[in-house]
Amino acid sequence: MSHVPGIALASRVRKLEISPTVAMAQRARALRAKGVRVLDFSVGEPDQPTPARILAAGREAMEAGHTKYAPAAGLPELRAAVVERYREDFGGSFVPEQVTVTVGGKQALAVLYQAILDRGSEVVIPTPAWPTFAEAARVAGGKPVFVPLAEKNGFRVTSRSVARAMGPKTRAIVVNSPCNPTGAVVDPEELLKIARLARGKGVVLLYDDTYAHLVFRGGALPGVAALQEAAGESLAVVGTVSKSYCMTGWRVGWVIGPRPLAAACAALNSHSVQGPATFAQHAAVEALTGPQDIVRELAAEYRRRRDFIQPAVAGLPGVTCAAPEGGFYVFPNMRHHLSKALPDTVALATRLLEEKAVAVVPGEGFSFPGHVRMSFAASLDDLREGAKRLGDFVAGLGSR
Ligand code: PMP
Repeated sequence: MSHVPGIALASRVRKLEISPTVAMAQRARALRAKGVRVLDFSVGEPDQPTPARILAAGREAMEAGHTKYAPAAGLPELRAAVVERYREDFGGSFVPEQVTVTVGGKQALAVLYQAILDRGSEVVIPTPAWPTFAEAARVAGGKPVFVPLAEKNGFRVTSRSVARAMGPKTRAIVVNSPCNPTGAVVDPEELLKIARLARGKGVVLLYDDTYAHLVFRGGALPGVAALQEAAGESLAVVGTVSKSYCMTGWRVGWVIGPRPLAAACAALNSHSVQGPATFAQHAAVEALTGPQDIVRELAAEYRRRRDFIQPAVAGLPGVTCAAPEGGFYVFPNMRHHLSKALPDTVALATRLLEEKAVAVVPGEGFSFPGHVRMSFAASLDDLREGAKRLGDFVAGLGSR
């Protein structure tokens, strides 16, 4: 963050930069404002609008007068709806007192970290990883400990790699499955081993299941019941309506954990955000309790897009690209195309935006240089055009 003359910024923000995904989206938007046809694959949000029945629920809630404070833990009916959705979809057996509603998954992470980290507490984060896992931990006084995963293993996290990174200061282990940015889904057996490890050491297993409904291989997801049994009181789930219901702007997410943890998160909320807008919470109740075909349709649509974009990118000369098993990102390896003129993927992504008006996020933002993240939450037409421009770009690099 740049220095403001006369104002001393706190050490926790002095080195904090705006999220690299948000930064790239802003650059793409600025270029578009100049009239350039930019293909923006930097943002992580569904391109579809919020479904009509959810919009109607939000509007009706507003008109019915649900415009006042909601409890700091969230509306009781929303906490119950979260519990019921996890029961139906993943076999979870939580109670509403274990749920605290948050301002999206981002604030769920922030509040969870504040609730469990002391200064110097370590958080084990397998990489490539979504930037906020580390930055939010730092803001809360914690220290990220990165565990680099192997591309040849499809970036799948293993209990062995996690165990090696643990020490006396470890307070949490992050598992994000399906993973942003790789699309890797954790192997159920490995997840249970990590859960037992967390329980044995008395640390939190922070399980971020933001993309849990967008999974492309059947039976891939570990059951939450088994996870609860293995992790016991160590399990903390971070979730959100953002991606599954095309509701990124509504800002509704949750933390699920042992009751004292959920209560601590609610107490923290009561002194900060209080919670998402009350009518947004009502809309989220509709999303979670209404017919779920929209979620299935969305998953089918993303599978079609994945089936196009992954082979298209993996087929480019000098590029490798693991097939994502969930989520809506590919994370191709561009190392072969780095050179003196293009020393890293920040330079590569910048040149790609300038020359071909294609926005992707450099791997540096995911603690994994050499790769770029490309979102396929875009229309098939845009993906086709994007693959073509990327192909032209790579061909141009080869002949320079
Ligand atoms: N977790 C992961 C892994 C994510 O990718 C995101 C969004 N990019 C979130 C949490 C948070 O999403 P939101 O704040 O919109 O709920």
